[in-house]
Amino acid sequence: MTITTLRRQLLAGETTPAAILGKLAGEISARDGQTGAYLSHNLESALAEAANADLSLPLGGIPIAIKDNINVLGQPCTCGSKFLENFISPYDATVIRKLRAAGAIPFGRMNQDEFAMGSSTENSALQTTRNPHDPARIPGGSSGGSAAAVADLTAIAALGSDTGGSIRQPASHCGVVGLKPTYGLISRFGLVAFASSLDQIGPMARSVEDCELLLNALASADARDMTCFGPSDRALTPAGDAKQLRIGIPKGFLGKGVAPEVAAAVNAAVEFYRAQGCAISEVELPSADLAVPTYYVVATAEASSNLGRYDGVRYGHRSTVAGTPVEMMTASRSEGFGPEVKRRILLGTFVLSAGYADAYYVRALRARAKIRAEYLAALAGVDVLLTPTVPTPAFKVGEKASDPLQLYLEDIFTIPANLAGLPAISVPCGKSGHLPVGFHLVGAPLSEAKLLAAGRLFEAAHGYAHQQAAL
Ligand code: GLN
Repeated sequence: MTITTLRRQLLAGETTPAAILGKLAGEISARDGQTGAYLSHNLESALAEAANADLSLPLGGIPIAIKDNINVLGQPCTCGSKFLENFISPYDATVIRKLRAAGAIPFGRMNQDEFAMGSSTENSALQTTRNPHDPARIPGGSSGGSAAAVADLTAIAALGSDTGGSIRQPASHCGVVGLKPTYGLISRFGLVAFASSLDQIGPMARSVEDCELLLNALASADARDMTCFGPSDRALTPAGDAKQLRIGIPKGFLGKGVAPEVAAAVNAAVEFYRAQGCAISEVELPSADLAVPTYYVVATAEASSNLGRYDGVRYGHRSTVAGTPVEMMTASRSEGFGPEVKRRILLGTFVLSAGYADAYYVRALRARAKIRAEYLAALAGVDVLLTPTVPTPAFKVGEKASDPLQLYLEDIFTIPANLAGLPAISVPCGKSGHLPVGFHLVGAPLSEAKLLAAGRLFEAAHGYAHQQAAL
């Protein structure tokens, strides 16, 4: 069921928050052994919160699954890493305070790629998560546990984080809705940092409406995040009539290694909007090809700095290797980080190093500015840009494990929204064989209401994604 349906039942006295949690716990024991979406859950403390739930609040009594890089007081926060395997959060992230203030109950710690670096959740150092639509396949990533649980009906909705596609790409692969808000709309305080200028928390759910409910609860000014919009500059652009949206189709995007069934499903979505009365036009984004290389310079540079804090001294893994403090730090990092995290730290350190920073980092910042300018220019003429979310459906576990570059191309359509700070949503729009396909909408800053209205229009005509999955 969706949040909306459950809220109706709660208010009608047909169910209770404790009964919902009990049901989820049953579904988890029935299926999560196979899916592997949950790293852990807090049934006992959640039941205690359920007993005091205020049903008059917008999310009153609704359990929400949390990606394992968002701090919840007293709960583990491993980030999918051996380094933080035994770390317990000393405080609530701002988004958790917001969820609690809206009556929701944080429930469960969802698997992810280590420190959110990856597109398949295979980089989790702790366990493998499988796609509920086909257990031989990946759920996408890095918020793979969040997406898989929502698709597997072991969670009602979840929070993910998105640095280059980590909410939208797994949402697309699992057949759920995922929204990455405008950079600055939601506080990052308490989100473990990967690449601070790109990271954004957002909702993943079975319906567009549920994503909207969560977005409304999460968005707020926060003095603890200096990049978060203040109270007076965060108003969303009104949605207007979704049937009058001007939709831009970036030229050449459907040629970029897009599987024929993915192109067919996305083209059908375009024709749906055209039939509703939306104006469809082609737009040019000439620098789009720079997005993936630009991202892997900017994101690794920021990660190499952010991950400097894992030194084995203050928290997390400390090596028992005897030696000098520097040897202890080196051993702690060598033992605690997995191969992809090490690759990113090395890449990021290199692109920032003296003699190379101008050639790589500074140049990437210029490319980023150019990409942003092109997207903003395109979005001055249309309301949203429509593409596939991912070029191909979910691949098999292990299939791309030996080739990181192949994996990096999973995010070819999602990365520009992070580089440009724009809001973007993935909405399920059909199947390729038995595997879900999603389409992707990107809008101007603070145009979330338009993206959501467009998604609702599609959903109203096609049914919720989980109903499609059940067919
Ligand atoms: N797949 C991309 C990466 O590996 C994006 C991850 C993310 O959005 N956190 O960096």
